[in-house]
Amino acid sequence: MEKRIIQISQPVTGEEEWQAVKEPLMSGWLTSGPKVREFEGLFAQRHEVKHAIAVTSATTALHLSLVALGIGPGDEVIVPAFTWVSTANVVLYQGAEVVFCDIDPSTFNIDPDDLKNRITPRTKAIMAVHLFGLCADIDAIKAVAPAIPIVEDGACAAGAAYKGIPAGGLGELGCFSFHPRKSVTTGEGGMVTTNDDALAEKVVMLRNHGASISEEQRHHGPKPFILPDFDIMGYNYRMTDLQGAVGVVQLGKLDKFIEERDGWAKFYKQKLAAIDWLKLPEFSSNYLHGWQSFVTSVDESNSPYSRNEIMEKLQEKGISTRPGTHAVHMLKFYGRKYNIKVSDFPGARHANDYSMAIPLHNRMVSEDYDYIVNSIYSL
Ligand SMILES: *Cc1c(COP(=O)(O)O)cnc(C)c1O
Repeated sequence: MEKRIIQISQPVTGEEEWQAVKEPLMSGWLTSGPKVREFEGLFAQRHEVKHAIAVTSATTALHLSLVALGIGPGDEVIVPAFTWVSTANVVLYQGAEVVFCDIDPSTFNIDPDDLKNRITPRTKAIMAVHLFGLCADIDAIKAVAPAIPIVEDGACAAGAAYKGIPAGGLGELGCFSFHPRKSVTTGEGGMVTTNDDALAEKVVMLRNHGASISEEQRHHGPKPFILPDFDIMGYNYRMTDLQGAVGVVQLGKLDKFIEERDGWAKFYKQKLAAIDWLKLPEFSSNYLHGWQSFVTSVDESNSPYSRNEIMEKLQEKGISTRPGTHAVHMLKFYGRKYNIKVSDFPGARHANDYSMAIPLHNRMVSEDYDYIVNSIYSL
């Protein structure tokens, strides 16, 4: 086999995105304006929600969601222990407390049985992370906690769905990321979705310093010289129109990207099924997977090498792999802050130690997939 170099993830951008950014650059309207509005409209339509509000990242989307829900000191927010660190950080931004919940290592998502143990009278929200593009089991979460608002961390889940309902419309608020590592990208960027008019209005103000009207509304209104009033304290989390323009083009490719990834995910599952030490993603027909990543687990009791040795051997062959993500309770800051033992969340610890994402992205060609499969067999 001739050596190939295969990245874990690579965005697909090119001529169309390049042409799209010219428009705001030539018009001179660079901050949130017509392109962001167009992107928001298309995103809301695709995810079947009433409102989509563009922001600077999924992290700022999550932060504003908690602010909009009125989360503050004395409140608790439940966060799965295996997720990107910012799902937890935003809770602390608000002076509230993170309460970790274990995950099911077979889906990498929140374990509803453990969720039961984490709810207290102070629980004010649940972060339902749709990790790697697979939606959390929302019905099971709602069965355990029918009255607690759900914030979807759908950073990885653009285009995914649960029982026919797209991510973003499964909780009170949904949050998405357009970081280059996700399925569609604007460089950096995020989106808040909701079907609740009052929450949407709050998020719109909060992303723009708390201003009662947007810069665009003021600029094009009858009295552009009068500054808006500020009813609440807000932030500058506005997406630029350069990003909005790229987002419009990228969103137009989302379904094609997912379909292609789904085809290659099936290829992996078929070709790698005979490797008994490699656990492949499994889920029922209730789920439409967004395939932000293809994350396997290494069964070290059965494997020829440890997970880390396998990652090293694949790297030597030119194949990038990564742990799925980190167990947040095992990170120094959180371990120290809450005096948590690594063994307190066995599912998250297992995923932290044995998960392994293998390359699946839209820049890969069939020779890449063959090479990866053959390389795993010849470890
Ligand atoms: C990527 C990611 C985030 C953060 O997204 P940014 O847009 O980089 O802020 C948050 N949560 C999860 C689950 C992610 O995968």
